[in-house]
Amino acid sequence: MRTIVVTGSASGMGAATRARLVAAGERVIGVDIRDADIVADLGTAEGRALAIASVGELSGGVIDGLVTWAGLPGLTDRPGGLLVSVNYFGTISMLEGLRPMLAKGDRPAAVAISSNSTTCQPGVPMDVVERCLAGDEDSACAAADIASSLATYPATKTAIAWWVRRHAPTGEWAGKGITLNAVAPGAVETPLLQASRQDPVIGALVDAFPVPVGRKASADELAAFVQFLLGPDARFFCGSVVFVDGGTDAQLRADAYPLPM
Ligand code: NAD
Repeated sequence: MRTIVVTGSASGMGAATRARLVAAGERVIGVDIRDADIVADLGTAEGRALAIASVGELSGGVIDGLVTWAGLPGLTDRPGGLLVSVNYFGTISMLEGLRPMLAKGDRPAAVAISSNSTTCQPGVPMDVVERCLAGDEDSACAAADIASSLATYPATKTAIAWWVRRHAPTGEWAGKGITLNAVAPGAVETPLLQASRQDPVIGALVDAFPVPVGRKASADELAAFVQFLLGPDARFFCGSVVFVDGGTDAQLRADAYPLPM
């Protein structure tokens, strides 16, 4: 039995991942702002420290997997800075804080959550991306509050994808035997998508967005892919950002990836 930490375990794809892993006989330590083994607000420094210390106590300091589903959508009445703190710094703090425990694990693997909004939503505020990657939370929050949370959402998810690509091949990750990858989902039927659908500004766009396979994904479809990335057959994945989006990115930008060197 491996021990896997799942953030955002109370809802949507985090809950689906938790259910799949438990059904497969894994031990799951769920972290969420509500209804979890560890209740912590990953949008704050105190909450992140509490989460990391509590995982250490519950696991004995050794974990085998981590997936960081916890996140918020951009909404018209939500400040951009909140997304910077929860989506980006909440994710990176868990990756960095739990890395030493992963390094002691059995075939350890970490999966961070990006989004196909990174490439499919125009107008990403690049100053937010740069300030996130510089590790300057106050400055990134200030830029995001100006940009709005609707624009900031793909900025946080771009910064996560680039952080993963920068760190996965390094001595601290691949060098310690930890696979680190990102998944970029498209539209998945969860409470988060429903909240976006009800937004007065972007609500109408949610179902207008093209999905070539002709439907939204279920939370369990994404959980299945994350389970694979955490498992023994995915040991050659390192620094990949995998789009699981029903073909949206391929349809909108067929030749944009891969880019020749
Ligand atoms: P969801 O709203 O069902 O679940 C998100 C979970 O994160 C919730 O349980 C929530 O309580 C938790 N959370 C929120 N703020 C938190 C905080 N401050 N501290 C700790 N936990 C917190 O959403 P979902 O659709 O399952 O999304 C999961 C992830 O997938 C998110 O990062 C989201 O950005 C990403 N994503 C979703 C979609 C989609 O279409 N649903 C598409 C691309 C990416």
